[in-house]
Amino acid sequence: MRRYVIAGNWKMNLGPKKAVELIEAIKEEIKGKETAGCDIVCCVPAVDIAVVAAACEGTPIKVGAENVHWAEKGAFTGELSADMLLEAGAEYVIIGHSERRQYFGETDLTVNARVKAALAGGLKVILCVGELLNERELDITAEVVAKQTKVALKDITPEQMANVIIAYEPVWAIGTGRTATSAQADEVCGIIRNVLCGLYGENIAEATTIQYGGSMNAGNAAELLSMDNVDGGLIGGASLKAPDFATIIAAAQ
Ligand code: PEP
Repeated sequence: MRRYVIAGNWKMNLGPKKAVELIEAIKEEIKGKETAGCDIVCCVPAVDIAVVAAACEGTPIKVGAENVHWAEKGAFTGELSADMLLEAGAEYVIIGHSERRQYFGETDLTVNARVKAALAGGLKVILCVGELLNERELDITAEVVAKQTKVALKDITPEQMANVIIAYEPVWAIGTGRTATSAQADEVCGIIRNVLCGLYGENIAEATTIQYGGSMNAGNAAELLSMDNVDGGLIGGASLKAPDFATIIAAAQ
């Protein structure tokens, strides 16, 4: 059956020194505790990947990047390829985060190009989808997440889906302290699972990890994670606090 995945998104926080300090604090928090019930990932700024990967060696913590370019190499100043991220020590990559869509012109088509390149290059993908507040108010959440999911996964094969995690992140809940209710999170994760069922069939839909993200924290994680269709969390702010991140990991056991 599908795995729970608890992933931190550190965003544009912490240079290499502070990044290693946070990893050491997380290691200390989870030492001697049960962690086998979920995969643990820290998605970190690109400049931190190598030192964080070294600090995570021999621990259950895996390392992810926060974006990847679609080309293998070339004249793309400031960008990073899947190969480069892998070589630095990343195993996962977040693609299509709403902050990339909102501030950096990311579209469903560029998300699809990145997903294809990441999977072809050997990275595991955390694909973010989610509606804006006005889209929820217009009652078109299902259509929005279905379109984002379908376009992002265009040309992705059933075999490649083993390396895809989907993060349902309502944009109105990210960094706002306003969390979706567990019923809302479960409903939309279920809608996404139905979309996967239409694209790939029931077995793959049931095997795919679908996370909730949006102000998940130490206080609300247990309830969100108890929902049938919620298989983990993508966590921003609370992933920067070692005790809170460890509490969320504990809630996923
Ligand atoms: C995120 O950045 O993916 C996120 C969910 O942030 P926060 O937990 O801070 O809302």
